[in-house]
Amino acid sequence: MNVLWRSVRGVRNSRLVIGAIASLPWGGGVVLRYHSVNDDPAWAGNYMQPSLVIHPDVFEQQVAYLNRHYEVVPIGEIVDSMLSGRRLSPRTVSITFDDGYVDNYRHAFRILKQQGVPAAFYITTGAVGDKTPLWTVRLRAAIRRTEHKQIVCRSLSDRSIDVSTEPRRDETIKWLTGLVKHCGKNEADDLLAEVFDVCGDPLSSDGTRIMVNWDELREMHSAGMTIGVHTISHYNLTTLTDREAEMEIAGSRDQLERELGGRVEHFAYPNGRTNAHCDTRIARLVAGVGLRSAVTSVTGPASLRYSVYGIPRLGMAIRDKDLRLMEAHMQYARIGRANTESVQSIATLRPEGRGCTGCGG
Ligand SMILES: [Zn+2]
Repeated sequence: MNVLWRSVRGVRNSRLVIGAIASLPWGGGVVLRYHSVNDDPAWAGNYMQPSLVIHPDVFEQQVAYLNRHYEVVPIGEIVDSMLSGRRLSPRTVSITFDDGYVDNYRHAFRILKQQGVPAAFYITTGAVGDKTPLWTVRLRAAIRRTEHKQIVCRSLSDRSIDVSTEPRRDETIKWLTGLVKHCGKNEADDLLAEVFDVCGDPLSSDGTRIMVNWDELREMHSAGMTIGVHTISHYNLTTLTDREAEMEIAGSRDQLERELGGRVEHFAYPNGRTNAHCDTRIARLVAGVGLRSAVTSVTGPASLRYSVYGIPRLGMAIRDKDLRLMEAHMQYARIGRANTESVQSIATLRPEGRGCTGCGG
């Protein structure tokens, strides 16, 4: 079976097949979704899911490759094309980053600037400068570094959770992350507070800065990078009430505009590893506060088939250090379809200035 799979993958990723797909006239552009670019050995695993951490040397090669073979445009150009009904060239790519880690400034921004390539950074504003580091990072650090072998939480019916080995810790992180993504704001707050209380919260004392700060963001913005909204607290918006979700979206946008002294127009839905991270209700709230676009974590092309409030992206991971594999993933995303219910249901929503359009399904 393994041999069969390897040969299917080999054909799928062969130069010939990729070349043939790349020459197909249909499809759309591709929006890439990065998280972290880091070479600190303690970073991947302790703070971040290792598959999402790209080494700076690899990122540098990827940007050089994209610069040589593609037209790398700001996300605003993709949005303008989609709104004007202009089909995107198959060689159009946009680079985006989610969450706002400090390594986006230290490594990614430095490399992008050197190569003259634009990108968008979607920022979780409540976490800027480590005011309250992103809950996903705090949860990972707390479980990874707890001194306990078992933890018991009232919020989880006093069930005893085995965290005695590294694999058990990683399973627990995955399980608790999924739970928080699926519960409402108060429940999520209670569960996280209890986990930090039981395990300890190493980020409050270890001195490692995790998130970008306002001075760094201002420098990136002045250099022409797009700074976008990724909410205040990084909760799954589909689990929040309308009022809570609107505060997370508009409050984050308002703070970015105050700090950067300019208009902020683009949004990324947080918690994209579940299909339920965006829907029509939340897309209408994003449009309603006057934001011009919203990118998702659903895999697919940026094409006229989708709304600017449901733009599919392609998640970049450690496996993409092989440039041929990266090219293969990009071509398959470009000609693919984002068939999830959430993105399909948003498909007709369009912006009409600062105010809700009310259109869409
Ligand atoms: Zn995120």
